[in-house]
Amino acid sequence: MDITDATIAEIEEELGGDGVWVDPGFARAHDISAADEARMEEAVASTEHAELKVVLVEVDSDDERFQGSFSSLTAWMQDTRGGDATYVGWEVWSEPHLTVVTYGQQPDPIYVASVADHEHPDDLVSQVVEVGELLDSGRAEEIWHEVPSDERYSWTADEGMQASEWAAVGGGVVLLVGAVVLARRALRRRRSAGFVLPTTVLHTVRAAEDRRLRQQAEAEVLALGEAIGLGEPSGSASSLAAWQQALDHYAAARSILSQAAAPADVVGALVLARHGESARAAAQQPEADAWEPPVRCWFNPLHEGPTTEVTWRDDAREVDVPACAACARDVRAGREPDDVLDFIEGERTVHYFRLDLGAWSRTGYGALDRDLLGALRAGTGARGRLSRRR
Ligand SMILES: [Zn+2]
Repeated sequence: MDITDATIAEIEEELGGDGVWVDPGFARAHDISAADEARMEEAVASTEHAELKVVLVEVDSDDERFQGSFSSLTAWMQDTRGGDATYVGWEVWSEPHLTVVTYGQQPDPIYVASVADHEHPDDLVSQVVEVGELLDSGRAEEIWHEVPSDERYSWTADEGMQASEWAAVGGGVVLLVGAVVLARRALRRRRSAGFVLPTTVLHTVRAAEDRRLRQQAEAEVLALGEAIGLGEPSGSASSLAAWQQALDHYAAARSILSQAAAPADVVGALVLARHGESARAAAQQPEADAWEPPVRCWFNPLHEGPTTEVTWRDDAREVDVPACAACARDVRAGREPDDVLDFIEGERTVHYFRLDLGAWSRTGYGALDRDLLGALRAGTGARGRLSRRR
C-alpha cells in the first residue's frame, strides 16, 4: 500500500502501545487473524530484546517516499524516534521475505530472518515469534551453520567445507589460495576444452570465492554507510537527488546482505553498493550534475573501468552490450571473454545470463537497463522459482 503521513502516525501510535502493527490488506493477503496478532504481541511483550517492533505491510514499489523498501520506511520512522530499535517487517526486494532491521548500538541481526524462515516455512506468524526468540538467544548464526547446506539455497553452491577441513586439505592459507587459483584456471581451461572439474573440487573452489565475495560486499556496504553518515549533499537539486539515490542503493544492498543471500544476490548487493558510492560522491560535488548509474561490463558487473559497446552472438541471439576493455578485446577477436560471471547450477557452472535470476539476469546487473533499483522493485516475486527451498 501507499504509506501516507496518516499511516505513519497510525503505525507510530501502535508501536508505542503493543509494538505490533499489521496493515489490514496485508493481514488479508497473508491470512493473519486477530489471534495471530495477539500471538505476535505476546512475543514482543515477552522478549528481553529492547524496542522490538513488528510492522507488517507491503510497501508499494511506486510509493513516492519508500518505493517498495521496508528499510526506507523504518529509516524514516527511526529518524523521529531515535535510539535503539529492532524492526521486523516484510521486504519485497528481489523476493518477498521477512526481514529484521536494527538501529543503534546493536549487533547485526544477520541470519535471524533466514533461520526463522527455514524453521517455519510458509508460517509468517511463527517466523515473527521465532525472530524474538533468536534475538534473545543470540544463536541465529550458530543455528544457520548447522542447517544442511543443500537446504539453504535451492539452486547454488553451498558454503562448502569448514575452516578446519580447509586447513587439512590446504595445509595453510598460502597453499590454499594457490590451490584455488590453480583449480580456477583448470576450471576455465577444461571448460573451454569441454571437460568439467570433479564436482567436489568445483564446489570447494566456488565456496571459497563465495565467502570472499560476501566479505567484500559486507565491507563495501559498511564503508558506504559510514561515508553517508559522515557526509552531506552539497545542496543543489541534483545533489539532493543523487544523495537520495545513494541512500536508496545503500538500503537495498543492506537489505540483501541482512539475509543469507545466494551468491547471485551478493553480487547484486556489491553492484548496488558501488552505484550507491558513485551517487554519494556525485552528491558531494559542489557543482553536481544529475547522477546516472555508471555503465558496467555486461559479461561481469564486477569488472571495473570504462566500457565500449560490442555485439555478442550467442546460439540464438545477438545483442549489443557494454563491455570492459578486456572483455571487448576478446569479443572482437571472436572469443568468449575469459572471466564471465557464472554460478553453479547442479554440477556445473553456468553463465549468469543463461540463468533466470530475475532482475539481475534480465538487466545484466544494470548493464542493459541502468535503473537497476527500478527493475528490482518491478521484479518483485519474479525469483520465486529460485527462492530458498521451502
Ligand atoms: Zn568485462
